[in-house]
Amino acid sequence: MERIVSGKPKEEDISLDRTLRPKQLTDYLGQEKVKDNLKIAIAAAQGRGEPLDHILLYGPPGLGKTTLAHIIAAEMRVSIRITSGPAVERPGDLAAVLTSLRDADILFIDEIHRLSRIVEEKLYPAMEEFALDIFIGKGAGARSVRLRLPRFTLIGATTRFAMLSPPLRDRFGAVYRLDFYDNEATTAIIQRSAHILGIEAEESGVREMARRARGTPRVANRLLKRVRDYAQVMAEGVITETVALEALGRLEIDHLGLDELDHKVLEAIIHKFDGGPVGLETIAASISEEADTIMDVYEPYLLQLGFLERTPRGRVATRLAYEHLGLPYEKKPPQPTLF
Ligand code: ADP
Repeated sequence: MERIVSGKPKEEDISLDRTLRPKQLTDYLGQEKVKDNLKIAIAAAQGRGEPLDHILLYGPPGLGKTTLAHIIAAEMRVSIRITSGPAVERPGDLAAVLTSLRDADILFIDEIHRLSRIVEEKLYPAMEEFALDIFIGKGAGARSVRLRLPRFTLIGATTRFAMLSPPLRDRFGAVYRLDFYDNEATTAIIQRSAHILGIEAEESGVREMARRARGTPRVANRLLKRVRDYAQVMAEGVITETVALEALGRLEIDHLGLDELDHKVLEAIIHKFDGGPVGLETIAASISEEADTIMDVYEPYLLQLGFLERTPRGRVATRLAYEHLGLPYEKKPPQPTLF
């Protein structure tokens, strides 16, 4: 099934990303707390004439981690190298990336929680002492040589903070969590994108899209694109409230931005597991979905809406979830604790 509301990048996003990605901090809307802290960190580093501390960005996909890394590089006026956890397979791959950096450059590692243990261990001295230990020769003649690296800044991005090992976490000087965007910020993002793409959209229409964008800029831009197509064919190109409502209705996204899979997750918990608690793997298996997709894309938003609760015994559907699906809710007696 095609997922319009997933924050994960798709093929169709590539050119859209290129056009719409903000290039400087003033165009990066929302996330005020993160931006304020970053401005101070950037000004302080520039004042000292030093590179930035290593930065970890975390939060669900599509919230602007990659965008922010590019903006930090632009604000610091340095180059950025982009790679990802799965792409840096062996220590040799890491050595190749690190030795290609110049002083003060930024290295962006997306999905940093997916680095292998041995690569991660090579990264520690690189982050801490800007040194890389490599082995030369084989057998009894093998010896370790320490290479000096330029003073780079590592920006790591992850959707799974909990999967990061504590030693890696500790080596970041700053950790920023990106939250879902509120309605105002999402509305502003859609207005900015509409302006760039030359789309005429009434405010009521923009608000309707914003409400269903799950607080995720990537989803917001995707919805705008779909509604634009609809407006072009059916309504002379102008996105009014009625046009937005009709177009979004056709995409089968409900008024909170939930799609069929969100409904399936909630219904499975309620109907098959009596409202929970139930483990995520079990839910995933019962609806033939990948647990990872549910954990990265679906669960964070359902938690944010207060439709799901995480308990030590598994996920529980809340009264709000029952109400949203129009089902009667009966509070269950507390479950005995297992020892
Ligand atoms: P992530 O790396 O967290 O998955 P991206 O940085 O790739 O997310 O963001 C996805 C898209 O959303 C970007 O191409 C950009 O167009 C848009 N976007 C993200 N954050 C913002 C923001 N704060 N303001 C405006 N647009 C944004």
